[in-house]
Amino acid sequence: MQTRYPPSMPNLITGCTCVVCGAAAPLPRSAGTCPSCNDPFATLEINFDMDRARASMTPSALASRPFNHWRYAELLPIEPDDRAFAWPVGWTPILDSPRLAQWANAKRLRIKDEGRNHTGSFKDRASSVGVLRAMQAGDTTIACASTGNAASSCAGFAAIAGINATIFVPARAPKPKIAQLLIFGADVRRVRGTYAQAYDLCNSECDTHGWHNRNCAINPYLVEGKKTCGLEIAEQTSSDLPDWVVLSVGDGCTIAGVAKGLTQMRELGFIDRVPRILGVQAEGVDPIAIAFETGDLPMDRTADTMADSIDVPVPRNWRKAVNRVRDCEGAFVRVTNDEIAQAMQAAGAKAGVFCEPAAAASIAGIKRAIAEGIIEPSADILAVSTGSGLKDVDSAIAVAGEPNEVDPLAD
Ligand SMILES: *Cc1c(COP(=O)(O)O)cnc(C)c1O
Ligand SMILES: [Zn+2]
Repeated sequence: MQTRYPPSMPNLITGCTCVVCGAAAPLPRSAGTCPSCNDPFATLEINFDMDRARASMTPSALASRPFNHWRYAELLPIEPDDRAFAWPVGWTPILDSPRLAQWANAKRLRIKDEGRNHTGSFKDRASSVGVLRAMQAGDTTIACASTGNAASSCAGFAAIAGINATIFVPARAPKPKIAQLLIFGADVRRVRGTYAQAYDLCNSECDTHGWHNRNCAINPYLVEGKKTCGLEIAEQTSSDLPDWVVLSVGDGCTIAGVAKGLTQMRELGFIDRVPRILGVQAEGVDPIAIAFETGDLPMDRTADTMADSIDVPVPRNWRKAVNRVRDCEGAFVRVTNDEIAQAMQAAGAKAGVFCEPAAAASIAGIKRAIAEGIIEPSADILAVSTGSGLKDVDSAIAVAGEPNEVDPLAD
């Protein structure tokens, strides 16, 4: 693989705009919201020169680039960097799963297995960008608050890059995720409280110490990393584009990023339409689904969900998520713990994909959306499985139960 790629990539960022008031804003160093409006949810969108991207990011140019997410360098918000182009991120496989399709009553169902990323989840797409951005800014510590995957991913890439990671996790983050980030050498602070409290503490500590803030919801660079999953779906299925793309939703960055990636690939001419997008939330922790329906974010929608990665009662990036799903005429559904557990078993037994609960939620959401008439049974569907089941083995054991005990052969 070439290390120096692309040889002289221009930076194609044209600016940054507020998702609430539309005002132009300066690019923040890491996290930041709109300086013109007083809205804490006024997140920033990074804009690119799509004409220049179209000129250099052609199918034949892509054909000779490495198969990881750096192949889309024109549309990433960082300077090309030799140190990072060999970091393994993205280009995850898509599996066609006829037996799982049958289970969901769908004509066709494919799974893009993001559990195959370097640290086992979709979050690597954002962390790799965030850590590289921190390195380029000369910051020696990157910090984030996370229910687990963003944390372990941030810690993993910080370890590759040789910078420090300070991580704030809520009390109920699953143990395997905490073990993973401790093994990656992170300074881990388990907050006696919720994710929202860990998040506030992290932002305040970043301000105090000048740490690089990886909190995805308000760090516009990171959504651009998440976008590469949408770029890939478009490139990998361009001749065979699904009707629906399905994702589970917590803070809303993942779904907004994937939608942006698909939209940009249409602008570049790789695909001629943007698939409709289904967002899946946990029953009771569904603030973005409510905001999609009513236009307003409810405060503190909490419930007991097994899908810790989408257990986000106050989603900071709800506006981008809602706008993007509206733009593609998408929809939202909610799923219960029972439906998630059934989908975990079905994805494993019928497609050979081991999902953590939040990843299985997307598959549960397909069955629900078809049953509710939101997705037509004749649809061609692609679900993104956002994290590996190995991330949360306790939940897998709770769902799967114990094996049969048998005696060995007599001596
Ligand atoms: C973070 C995460 C999500 C949701 O992403 P948001 O950007 O918070 O909406 C879904 N699944 C898994 C496994 C995750 O780690
Ligand atoms: Zn604004």
